[in-house]
Amino acid sequence: MPATTDSESPPIRRILHCDMDCFYAAVHMRDDPALRGKPVVIGGSPEGRGVVAAASYEARAFGVRSALPAARAVRLCPGAVFLKPDFPRYRRESAEVFAIFREFTPTVQVVSIDEAYLDVTEHLGRWGSATGVAREIRRRVRADRGLTVSVGVGPSKLVAKIASDADKPDGLAVISPRKVRAFLDPLPVRALPGVGPATEARLKKHGFERVAQLRAVDPLRLEALLGSYGRRLARFAAGVDDRPVRTDRERKSLSSERTYERDLEDPARILGELDRLAEQVATGLAKREIAACTVVVKVRYSDFTTVTRSQTLPAPTADRETLRRVARLLLAKTAAGSRPVRLLGVGGSTLVPGKVEQLALF
Ligand SMILES: [Mg+2]
Repeated sequence: MPATTDSESPPIRRILHCDMDCFYAAVHMRDDPALRGKPVVIGGSPEGRGVVAAASYEARAFGVRSALPAARAVRLCPGAVFLKPDFPRYRRESAEVFAIFREFTPTVQVVSIDEAYLDVTEHLGRWGSATGVAREIRRRVRADRGLTVSVGVGPSKLVAKIASDADKPDGLAVISPRKVRAFLDPLPVRALPGVGPATEARLKKHGFERVAQLRAVDPLRLEALLGSYGRRLARFAAGVDDRPVRTDRERKSLSSERTYERDLEDPARILGELDRLAEQVATGLAKREIAACTVVVKVRYSDFTTVTRSQTLPAPTADRETLRRVARLLLAKTAAGSRPVRLLGVGGSTLVPGKVEQLALF
């Protein structure tokens, strides 16, 4: 197929699909310990005609699923706790989680409120492998947000997406390029992108139940059956998927933050950590030849409450002394030190291009 071959084979891509586990329910369960371990159903009122928007794994065990009428959910799981959805809260949480993803690679494609693709091919950093990056992302989301994210790693979006589902919840599945076919072959045809109920029925009618069967057949036969999509499907079945991860947002801020194994209580230690984070931001800005108009300090206390303080500067800066000084002023407006600190962050926002002046060089 001329469309898929290339004179030079492109580098193998390393793509992650990150999918939050039971996102809406997980947010409520994190914030209200009384809900933990219980069947929780988010959705419309069971008395009315509402439907289920999300259900915890405990509720799913009773057969409660999204889009089920809430009244039906009550009959399946009479002990369930019903909660109204709080979409602004989910959106805020989602932004926090995606901000973590963006620390690892600028190439983040948001698929939905709780799902994103990341291309880390050129951003393996000090973790050295996509698996290492995936582990670190999972650790960060758990440590910083108290939530779990399942991650699939593979050479394409197709494989990463299916893999993220393979070990859910709280899972990590890595499919190396060599194993792609063995991974896809036994799956039902509906696992492939674009196969909805209608296409699935059509394929089944012609005897195609598993991906392996689609791979074994002449692509022209699938084309005859499904039009141009049939040809794409043949490529998917063979594990060929060159769809790029598309970034949909420009970087709007640059920050550095850290969650501490043990809460910080000593004010001098907190200042030391803050200085270090401010320096990292300065370095990051300098490297990208950008400057920040606003400095932000973020503090999360031991009880997970989080505060941010920000200051807009008279002129954009990437100067480390300025960033350090402003960060210290902002920290003084928090209770850090009198309250134990779990996480500290320093960031620059409203970024503008600009060469960094050679200031503060000794
Ligand atoms: Mg999800």
